[in-house]
Amino acid sequence: MTSPLRRVLLIDDDRGQARIVDAAFAKFIGERFELHWAATYEDGLHALKTGQFSACLLDYQLGPRDGLELLREAVRLGVTTPVIFLTSETSGDVDTQALIAGAMDYLVKFEISPRGLERSLRYALRLHTTLSELRRLATRDPLTALFNRREGVRLLENEVERSRGHGRTVSVLLIDIDNFKGVNDTLGHAGGDRMLALVGEAIKSTARDTDAVVRWGGDEFAVWLPETDANGARRCGEAVVAAVRLLGCTVSIGVAEWNSSRENANDLLLAADKALYEAKAAGRDRVA
Ligand code: GH3
Ligand code: MG
Repeated sequence: MTSPLRRVLLIDDDRGQARIVDAAFAKFIGERFELHWAATYEDGLHALKTGQFSACLLDYQLGPRDGLELLREAVRLGVTTPVIFLTSETSGDVDTQALIAGAMDYLVKFEISPRGLERSLRYALRLHTTLSELRRLATRDPLTALFNRREGVRLLENEVERSRGHGRTVSVLLIDIDNFKGVNDTLGHAGGDRMLALVGEAIKSTARDTDAVVRWGGDEFAVWLPETDANGARRCGEAVVAAVRLLGCTVSIGVAEWNSSRENANDLLLAADKALYEAKAAGRDRVA
């Protein structure tokens, strides 16, 4: 059985250009692609957000708005599809702006040849695979596959910024396994590692899709809960405590809610750390 063709999205308000690209695709000598055409900014963005396309060819001129705007909006919305920018502009710094906005390549429309387009697409797809792998390595903890601490800090700072701007709230859980040194002593370091991975899975399984679960370091985990107050966060913490008990070990959890008296993400973490200390002092296996 042959695998289905990879899909490429063309966003261009010019039907003539769509025909030219279609004809170029028909002359590709390597991989074949299925070309889809979106003629407006809105349709193009909507299609990109579906995540069903392996790559996107994006026109600069798109009615009242332009491709740069679309690219920036798509990146903001978390779209990672590789984008090749198309334009009839040869002057100005549109090319530089497109690359800064996240485009993989930049092609001048009247210079496009089937061979050049094919090569650009192949390079963009290859680079995208490499970048995705690098992104994973830079943002994930290898043992648990959860976000690592650096990415966790970045996500929390974004969340606090959003809460500040929109008058929303965000809460955090800091989670520390109880007597983990004892777990290592009993099961060995490899057994301890397996327990860390299981606890990570248990936390992840209680979290919502919008929550961020982080391997904070050692036997510590953290969860960011957007639009959740301290009461809601406490309930999530109780669910984690119950889920981890099923693994034959326990955790202590400190909860804190962001409010305007807290300056930044660090203040929020300090408050959660203080609560975690209280949970430990009060006998472990609980939320404070
Ligand atoms: P407490 O209830 O006070 O938290 O006691 P604890 O024994 O859990 O103490 P603490 O949190 O300070 O100890 C964490 C231990 O976790 C110390 C370290 O040996 C172990 N550890 C840290 N990272 C790893 C890891 O990646 N794998 C394993 N197996 N153990 C780790
Ligand atoms: Mg511990």
